[in-house]
Parts: sequence; structure tokens; C-alpha cells
Amino acid sequence: MKTLPPFRTGQARVEHGYLQPISDVEIPFGIIEGSEPGPCLLVTAGVHGSEFCSIETAIRLLQMKPEQIKGTLVVLPILNVQGFRKRSIYVMPEDGKNLNRMFPGRPDGTTSERLANWLVSSVYPNADAYLDLHGGDLDESLTPFTLFPSNCEKSKALATVFGLPIAIAAGGEGYTINAAYKVGVPSILPEVSGNGLWGEDTVAEMTAGIERVMHYLGMIPEPAKPSPPESPLFVTMWVPPAPVDGLWYSAKEISEAVAIGDVLGEIKDPFGKVLATIRSEKAGIILYRLTSLSVNSGEALLGVGTPY
Ligand SMILES: [Zn+2]
Repeated sequence: MKTLPPFRTGQARVEHGYLQPISDVEIPFGIIEGSEPGPCLLVTAGVHGSEFCSIETAIRLLQMKPEQIKGTLVVLPILNVQGFRKRSIYVMPEDGKNLNRMFPGRPDGTTSERLANWLVSSVYPNADAYLDLHGGDLDESLTPFTLFPSNCEKSKALATVFGLPIAIAAGGEGYTINAAYKVGVPSILPEVSGNGLWGEDTVAEMTAGIERVMHYLGMIPEPAKPSPPESPLFVTMWVPPAPVDGLWYSAKEISEAVAIGDVLGEIKDPFGKVLATIRSEKAGIILYRLTSLSVNSGEALLGVGTPY
């Protein structure tokens, strides 16, 4: 197995190549170390292999030069390589599990559990800050937002600097950023673009946020685009799951305001019979929604952001 080289050597360098962090997975990596010392920023993408805006943004970061930065930039642009190749939604094809629900993982578990364990035990502790890039998967539309571990002020500050209009305090087990926070690394999870789409505008939006964080950490001079003057809207997110299998008809669009009791959508059978009506238990705005016509019981239908 080929492991990740040291993050800090004291020498300006670029290393590109492939790692084999666990026996059945091979992933690309890049390390760009500047000639001057500074913090180490870890950037991952492709936890979800079809969120292409985040992956393309990370791929472009691999082209940074040592003379452009202080400290070290470590990029793992496609963690779920088989998911990327097969254009799978949410899961790693090797075990059918959502890597972003498997943290902190297990050393003797299935593929996604072992990959999560490797990140938590061998990668996160060597970073000073962590960005896990995401976006709406092939079946989701969303308005740009940044998740941060609730109760972590340093992560909240990174979410503010990143500059997307909405920042979501997220708790719970299983997620990349919460696992990194628990080993002491300020971490955020920005999401830009939806339905797996990527383009110059959305890649630029994600890249601008990364540059703001690098400037905030003292790794680069001025970012190309400074943070917007107003701070993000801080929210918590309520996510109703589908109560039954069927066809999903959303009644709301992303960014639309909703009140408690509003109909968010219906799940029908193929003959038009309404199997379930989903009403909002929160007042707020729609942050993302399932765009797939097909829905299975237990799947997330949408997210409602409630200001706090
Ligand atoms: Zn994702």
C-alpha cells in the first residue's frame, strides 16, 4: 500500500500521484508545500462521486505552485473513485454505503468504514484546517451553503470567511467535518451547484471561498474576491424523510420561504393516488430538495433552514 507522504518537509515541492490508503482503494492526491512555513490546509472532494463541481474545483487546486503559498496544501480530489467512475449517487459502490455517514469508521469494517478510519486516524490529525467540498448530487438541487460542526467557533469562523450566503450548524455522528472537529481540526463542508452539474461560474464560486480561507489562514496574500460584507445567515436544517416509496412531487422550489404547516410536497402512486402529504414542521427557507421523481422510504426529501 502507498501511504500519504509527510505534509511538512521544509522544502518547496509539488507531489502528485496515487495512494492506496486501504487495500481495495486507490485515490489521486496532491501536496503543494511552499518554501515558507505556514499552516496545513486539507481539501477533500468526491466523498460523493457525482458532485462534479466540488471535484473539478479540487482538481484545479492541484495546479497551485509552491511559490504561490505559505505552508502546505493537501488535496484529495476524488475520495470515492469508484463512485466517480460509475456516477453513483451518495454511496461507495464497493459496499453500497454513504461514506459521509460512516465516520469515524472502523479499521476492520467495509470499504467506506475503513476509508473513513484512515482519514480520521492518519490524515485529519496532520491538518490545521479542513474543507470537505460537496454540492447537490445528481438528484438534488440546492442553494449554496456551508455546513460547520455546531459548537465549534473556529469552524463557524471558517464558514463565515468562506462567504457563501447561508451557514448551517450541523451536529450528529457519521460526517467528515464532525469527525475532524472531534480530533481538533476546524472543518467546514461547503456545497455549491446541484444535480451534479459543474461550470465555470460554480467552480469559480467554490474556488473563491477556498482562496478566502487560505488568505484567512495566512497562506496566500489577497484573495481574488474578498468575502461579502454581510455575514451569512446562520441556520439549523430540518430534513423530513420520505414516509413511503413512490413518486415525489415537490410543492416548493429552492430558496422559497415556508411557514409551519405549509405543504412541501406529495408522494403519489403511479395512478395519482396521494400516499403522503409532507407538511413543514419549521418556518424558514428551502435549502435543497430532491429533484428525482422516484423516491424511496427513508430518503431525504428536502432541507428547511431555520434561522437561529
Ligand atoms: Zn455530498
